[in-house]
Amino acid sequence: MSGLFVKNYGCQMNVYDTNKLLDLLSSYNYKETQSIKEAGLVILNTCHVREKAVTKLYSDLGRINIIKQSYNPNMLIAVIGCVAQIQGNDLIKRFPYVNFVLGTQAIQNLPQLINELKGKTSKKLHSVDTRFLTDEKFKILNINTYVHQKISAFVTIQEGCDNFCTYCSVPNSRGREYSRDFHLIIDEIKYLAEQGIKEIMLLGQNVNSYKFVSDAKTYYIEDIFSEIDKIGGIERIRYLSPNPQGMRDDLIESYRSIRKLMPFVHLPLQSGSNRILKMMNRPYTTDEYLKMVEKFRNVRSDMMFSTDLIVGFPSETNGDFEDTINMVNIMQYPNGFYFKYSPRPHTVAASMPNQIDDKIKNQRFQELHELMLKYKEKSNSSFIGQVVNVLFENHGKFLNHITGKSEYFQNVFVKNGNENDIGKIKKVRIKSFNASNLEGEIID
Ligand code: SAH
Ligand code: SF4
Repeated sequence: MSGLFVKNYGCQMNVYDTNKLLDLLSSYNYKETQSIKEAGLVILNTCHVREKAVTKLYSDLGRINIIKQSYNPNMLIAVIGCVAQIQGNDLIKRFPYVNFVLGTQAIQNLPQLINELKGKTSKKLHSVDTRFLTDEKFKILNINTYVHQKISAFVTIQEGCDNFCTYCSVPNSRGREYSRDFHLIIDEIKYLAEQGIKEIMLLGQNVNSYKFVSDAKTYYIEDIFSEIDKIGGIERIRYLSPNPQGMRDDLIESYRSIRKLMPFVHLPLQSGSNRILKMMNRPYTTDEYLKMVEKFRNVRSDMMFSTDLIVGFPSETNGDFEDTINMVNIMQYPNGFYFKYSPRPHTVAASMPNQIDDKIKNQRFQELHELMLKYKEKSNSSFIGQVVNVLFENHGKFLNHITGKSEYFQNVFVKNGNENDIGKIKKVRIKSFNASNLEGEIID
């Protein structure tokens, strides 16, 4: 039995892919380890969305190679996912001790490649596969072996993107939009329910573009919601990451009838300036975005939203940035992700004139950060004294704590719970909060 060290960078879709790959490798006599020294196989599932994640990969590879040379020269190293897809052979040139470079739609070939290595010395062997074999990938990965997550589980339903936002590397790294077979998705969710999973997080780069045609019927994400609604045991449905573009009225309307849908939607705005949105190739205006929010709230008045924002996109003026600040003031997001624009290879925006200075990006980021914190705190404090439904998932950091998520995706911890509450939804009265959690007391 040899050790297997795994690291995921970036998004939840990598976690899903890696877990399925681990299922495929389950008969290969590897045992997961946290210690690189003990690893016969290292799998790094990478992210190319921002430069930071790529730099981190490079430094991790350097560190892993030192361990490989010092302790375990036969260690196999696989770099898979988005950086592998974009860089292909260049990765092997730069890091010749990497054995396998498998793009996002070729990761399923890793077990076979390992087989081919048996009996050979690993040091000199390299394989690079960056073919877009998406159909094959989901056929091979369609195995329900283990349940890696407890209580809440990811299920990828859609992959790739056709939108080509000018800053974004995803269309290059994940390929064209692909929707998985509706029936296989439902089978997978039924299996997860049988294993005790209570919450399903549907995943896709553009999850609301899901569209699968079979027997002259077209299935949309709302059809997946309706099917999950009938599956006993699953109490909650979430989805990530939707895009304001392609947010159909039918999806919004489904909140009326499907109570398992949680009233918390991630709605990435990216910028509050219509001029910048146009340059980003985002086909909505801020007015249209706000109207969409209103539609959601007309269907469920308690709906809350988080977002993604980018500061320092090429040519962004102080006025454009103020427009973003203005939108944040209108939306008062209780939560969100915000990034400094990072020029990505092979994207339109990377070669636009008027790239913004790092110093200005940092200043704008800091200002936005403080504002987002203010609204997070405002939102958290508005929950004090309120009763929220919490699905408990884990033991907390301290022995007597258990933690879970509210319907609005807030982390909530309590001290008066125990092991038996994990996997259950309980009413909790909120008493206080800190930067990342609400604290309360189970009242039923
Ligand atoms: N499909 C989703 C987002 C996927 S990428 C959507 O369209 O909304 C996740 C987030 O990373 C994006 O929403 C964006 O805010 C950020 N991002 C993508 N490319 C980036 C870049 N080049 N620089 C900085 N942030 C970026
Ligand atoms: Fe990237 Fe999302 Fe735009 Fe697609 S829609 S290009 S994933 S930001």
